[in-house]
Amino acid sequence: MRDRDCIFCKIIAGELPSQTIEEDERTVAFMDISPATRGHLLVVPREHARNLLEISTDDLQATIATAQRMARRVDERLKPAGINVLNSCGSAAWQTVFHFHVHVIPRYEGDPLRLPWTPAEGDMDEIAAVARELR
Ligand code: AMP
Ligand code: ZN
Repeated sequence: MRDRDCIFCKIIAGELPSQTIEEDERTVAFMDISPATRGHLLVVPREHARNLLEISTDDLQATIATAQRMARRVDERLKPAGINVLNSCGSAAWQTVFHFHVHVIPRYEGDPLRLPWTPAEGDMDEIAAVARELR
């Protein structure tokens, strides 16, 4: 179950180089080629799935479990101040590689990453209206 044009499928198949950290039956963890911070890595399912909406629940569970294992490893070995786990679903949400992946990004005091929105109290009626749409 792979996509011939997918760079992550090629990494999983060993056809493209990567700094792989760990592999198991369902997932592979490897270093991001353009790290946001020191130790930024990616966790992917072996089986190609385009995004969060398409991945099977079993592969999603396996991927997030590996992400937790990698986060614990990062915490132990690199001693970051914190860790972000990030997934983007769709180009409008910054996804650039269309094989589901979870970013594990160690955070350090003074690193350049910033929250991409400005928290401000919302309109309670609007929040209630969208909540009704979602129930
Ligand atoms: P996203 O923008 O969430 O889809 O994340 C894609 C990530 O894949 C980016 O952080 C890229 O730096 C990373 N990336 C792209 N090509 C490679 C590659 N060949 N090896 C490792 N990471 C890659
Ligand atoms: Zn793929």
